[in-house]
Amino acid sequence: MRRWTATRLAKVARQASRAAGKKGTDLPGQIARRVDKNILRKLASQVDEIVFISGTNGKTTTSNLIGHTLRANDIKIIHNNEGANMAAGITSAFILQIKPATKIAVIEIDEGSIPRVLNEVTPTMMVFTNFFRDQMDRFGEIDIMVNNIANAISNKGIKLLLNADDPFVSRLKIASDTVEYYGMKAHAHEFEQSTMNESKYCPNCGQLLHYDYIHYNQIGHYHCNCGFKREATKYEVSHFDLTPFINISIENEMFNMKIAGDFNAYNTIAAYTVLRELGLNNDAIRRGFETYTSNNGRMQYFRKDSKEAMINLAKNPAGMNASLSVGEQLEGRKVYLMSLNDNAADGKDTSWIYDADFEKLIRQDIEAIIVTGTRAEELQLRLKLAEVNVPIILEKDIYKATAKSMEFKESFTVAIPNYTSLTPMLSQLNHSFEEGKDK
Ligand SMILES: [Zn+2]
Repeated sequence: MRRWTATRLAKVARQASRAAGKKGTDLPGQIARRVDKNILRKLASQVDEIVFISGTNGKTTTSNLIGHTLRANDIKIIHNNEGANMAAGITSAFILQIKPATKIAVIEIDEGSIPRVLNEVTPTMMVFTNFFRDQMDRFGEIDIMVNNIANAISNKGIKLLLNADDPFVSRLKIASDTVEYYGMKAHAHEFEQSTMNESKYCPNCGQLLHYDYIHYNQIGHYHCNCGFKREATKYEVSHFDLTPFINISIENEMFNMKIAGDFNAYNTIAAYTVLRELGLNNDAIRRGFETYTSNNGRMQYFRKDSKEAMINLAKNPAGMNASLSVGEQLEGRKVYLMSLNDNAADGKDTSWIYDADFEKLIRQDIEAIIVTGTRAEELQLRLKLAEVNVPIILEKDIYKATAKSMEFKESFTVAIPNYTSLTPMLSQLNHSFEEGKDK
């Protein structure tokens, strides 16, 4: 009776907060936990496999990749995919998504919430991505945090899936008898930020770690005089490149991902490790990996038949240069779709486009460039000054301009909106690519 009431109240709370225009991911859990402090414990006991995903960076992408791939294989899951990764949000996900057929819960969890949540729920598996110092204001020294997590996990029979290349993550092996490792071979890829930071001391004895190979920061192949070392991996990336999306080779299998950014290769191998440990084979994993993309207009990919597109927000010279470089990496012909608005949220001063390197376009195979937005003429002028010798089409209506890019059927659309151009452009792209999209 008590649980029924807690669940009812939580659902009412969600409706109320949605009606008030809020996302309402924490509130249902908060209310249910007030009514029944054991609600999460009870619901969790009804699910066979509970996977927790944690770490400083990449936990959202990793858990979304896992969730998307399980769903792509028609597996019913609970997933806190709105990023509500503390106790209340996790409780909300269980309350609102649990069904009798649900066997797996995929839960992203904030590092700081692990001790509290593990008092109520014992996951079957935990995967850790990495530990960096950027949240140390909140958690104190990294060693203390790792030890707190280790204490919370210890003696619970949880299978740990650890990034062998991160000594801080690898340190967690002290907390379980069942550990599997994932990582990357040396020279798998030359990472952009391949500089060493200060985190190079052995988490076991405090001496300086020796590195045979560094991917980036403290991530690499290391060993210490005390015996602490990078462990042998069960799953390993042998190579990957960016075109601009990740093409990654794991265990002699090639996966053509639809996410970009070299750091996402680690999230990919972390997700792969979980999925293999859950019993999926490479074909099942490919079904999810090759259809997962972001949904926020940042390096988001679209495809329908042979027409492909990507959209990447650019609101300053660095963002614009990054987007133009993406075009350089894409093979084949392109049609560019660029939008410049000067609404209040964009800033009235649009002269920053003169600091961006539009000259990059001269070297690319471009069928046409469509300029749009309230300041479309200014983009047109900038392109002329850059001496980009391709047809330039001016269409100030962003919806119409975006729809027009679809008429170039053989060219890859590279869509670059500034801040307030993003929503209309994204909405038209979603509309244009809707049919033929994977569920
Ligand atoms: Zn040591």
